Amino acid sequence: MLHHERLRPPSHDYPADEWNVIEKRFNPEFLAQLETMMALGNGYLGMRGCPEEGGPNAENSTLINGFYETHPIVYGEEAYGFAKTGQTICNVTDSKIIKLFVDDEPFWLPDANLLRYDRRLNMQSGTLDREILWETPAGKQVLIRSRRLVSFVDRHVAAIFYSVRLLNAEAHVVISSEMGANEPSAAIDRNDPRQTRAFSGRVLHHRTSYSNDRRIVLCHTTEKSHLTLVCATDAVLETSCPHTCKVVHTEDFGQVAFTIEARRDRPIQLTKYMVYHTSQTASPEELCGRGEWTMDRVTTQGFQQLLVAQEHYLNDFWRRSDVRVRDIREDRTKRSTLEIQQAIRFNLFHILQASARAEGTGVPAKGLTGQAYEGHYFWDTEIYLLPFLIYTSPRIARNLLMFRYKMLPQARARAKELGHRGAMFPWRTIGGEEASAYYAAGTAQYHINADIMYALRKYVQATGDEPFLRECGAEMLVETARLWLDLGFYSKTKSGKFCINGVTGPDEYNAVVNNNAYTNLMARENLRYACETVEFLRTKEPETYAALVHKTGLEPSEVDAWLRAAENMYVPYDETLKIVPQDDGFLDEEPWDFKNTPPDHYPLLLFYHPLDIYRKQVIKQADVILAIFLLGDLFSLKEKKRNFEFYDPFTTGDSSLSSCVEAIIAAQTGDIDKAIRYGMAALLMDLADVGGNVKDGCHIASMGGTWMMLTYGFGGMRDNDGMLSFWPRRAPEDNAILRFPLTYRGQMLEIELARNEVQYALREGEGLVIRHETEDVSLTRENPVAIRPVSRS
Ligand code: BGC
Repeated sequence: MLHHERLRPPSHDYPADEWNVIEKRFNPEFLAQLETMMALGNGYLGMRGCPEEGGPNAENSTLINGFYETHPIVYGEEAYGFAKTGQTICNVTDSKIIKLFVDDEPFWLPDANLLRYDRRLNMQSGTLDREILWETPAGKQVLIRSRRLVSFVDRHVAAIFYSVRLLNAEAHVVISSEMGANEPSAAIDRNDPRQTRAFSGRVLHHRTSYSNDRRIVLCHTTEKSHLTLVCATDAVLETSCPHTCKVVHTEDFGQVAFTIEARRDRPIQLTKYMVYHTSQTASPEELCGRGEWTMDRVTTQGFQQLLVAQEHYLNDFWRRSDVRVRDIREDRTKRSTLEIQQAIRFNLFHILQASARAEGTGVPAKGLTGQAYEGHYFWDTEIYLLPFLIYTSPRIARNLLMFRYKMLPQARARAKELGHRGAMFPWRTIGGEEASAYYAAGTAQYHINADIMYALRKYVQATGDEPFLRECGAEMLVETARLWLDLGFYSKTKSGKFCINGVTGPDEYNAVVNNNAYTNLMARENLRYACETVEFLRTKEPETYAALVHKTGLEPSEVDAWLRAAENMYVPYDETLKIVPQDDGFLDEEPWDFKNTPPDHYPLLLFYHPLDIYRKQVIKQADVILAIFLLGDLFSLKEKKRNFEFYDPFTTGDSSLSSCVEAIIAAQTGDIDKAIRYGMAALLMDLADVGGNVKDGCHIASMGGTWMMLTYGFGGMRDNDGMLSFWPRRAPEDNAILRFPLTYRGQMLEIELARNEVQYALREGEGLVIRHETEDVSLTRENPVAIRPVSRS
């Protein structure tokens, strides 16, 4: 019997709809959750789904990826090498406020008599749409429609179309378009280490502010990180009703107030444009100028143009990325299939919103949907997000890997500080330096170095982007290989094998352990890939090799040493249980007392001292099971099954990064019931608030994991050996068809999986060879191939 709740089918009340997440009734109880779920973003700029009217809000964040302030990390007891400087994403100027007053009474959602309320996240148009019919206490009916977007095409731009119509009367109407900096931040639960950090005092310091007609520009800088922010708004009112306008601005505030004599049934339409620019190098004057150029352009184009461009962008995204489930009985109303489709799209849409225009930055753990985890970048990007991006939007994947490459100087410095050779990537960061304040579950997670190299390999294999490998990848490989060689040693007590001690694997409930199997296995891959790449360059591309030697000071003897370490890597194995022990100590630990752990004491990290957790057999998230997925070729089906059955009962899934991986291995090993249950927990992680903390932001890694669950899990996709192959099992529901596109080496293929047949079709490109189980399959656009799988359960 499993102790945790994840095997219960999660549920939610949002109507099943393929393309929209719909809120049918304003419910203050779900305010925070919906702010997260209905957040809009483009990877650069993010706005939580708060109402235009300035409230009510749980956490009214407007976030810019990589816009952060630093602060000293204060330790009760210092030690050498602890990260010194914290980095926390900050709430930037809130520009989306549009207040509405009818006969001088404010429209305030919680008090309003709402005759109609419909708000929807439209994943086809990339907009947040709302329609409200409000009856004022005087009986006047006011129809309010709004449409908000954060542009994917113009990453500095957001816009709102806000329309008001008096249906049954005339009224004095004021529409006040506002913006404000340094708004008080939301309350933070200090006992929850996953939440953000509160700044005391003002974070944004005024540099300049001005207005020009209805355009207002506010410019601020941060004090310590020296980042400059410009936020500009412009407002265009269209109505045949008589009106006047007043513009006010101060250091932190801007307002364009339209006073309108609203006539019955005559439209009043406000378009608000919002522009953000940020920089570490540009002067406030220059940045204001950039803001103005962008604003000139978008106001000339108009809202309709922004909308068309947004839809166009999304059409293209869905063409390359949409995973579809269809009920073969053609019963389009069958709730479960529609619900699954909605959830899949919700996950993929939020990944896009978190990453699309993250240019020169990483992807925060919560995307730009909330401030939890301080806007930090973790291994989540490389292991959970990049597979989806590599196979659907390789350009975004490249940008994210490039961002890691740009971080090499800080990674080299960090390695040096800790007495290591090579480079050591930070566990948590925004600016490139290590920002994790708890080394045991932070800096000790050396595996992030191998994770980044694992993603690099997948990227190069799937895209064929060898120039990237030559120009950037090889250097990262050299430096990470150096780190592993330096970190590990040949242990006498382990028959002279290469051991890596004192690290934390993905499972943060077993910290600072020896020979974490995941770390050793991934480090071995890292070392081998480094050897392969350097050897290839040395023999085939002497000029590139010479440049690499010049950049890194590489000695030929180093490569031999890496190879020797890789070939002698110690990988724990238990002969009795015939499983891979998570680390040297795991099997000797006392089992966690699950029976006497109250259900409301999960996640354990909020209720038990770390030492209590560390010394017991209990797992926060897939660790060995993750290695078995990522390095699937190294394990037979039987081994996968044995390990899964062993680790499953200890795995709490206290991290949202777990369920998706467990679902994959369950699917691959034929435990379809568990695959579906864990899969649903992952798929509905945010829509059904499985972890109870959606209010703090979307679980972007789990969202990427759901794509892997559908493709690598149910779709049977494999790419470990550099060849794209499929060992399909079946779609997640008995009567469903699962279909997904993949971009591979510049070509696009589509896989369709039904109960008794799998079809491979090349949609774009000249010709491609993939593998079905053990057979090569040649695809051309004219010749799709249909096969009856033999290995299906
Ligand atoms: C997980 C980490 C993850 C982080 C951010 C933690 O709870 O244990 O693996 O990187 O959340 O998502």
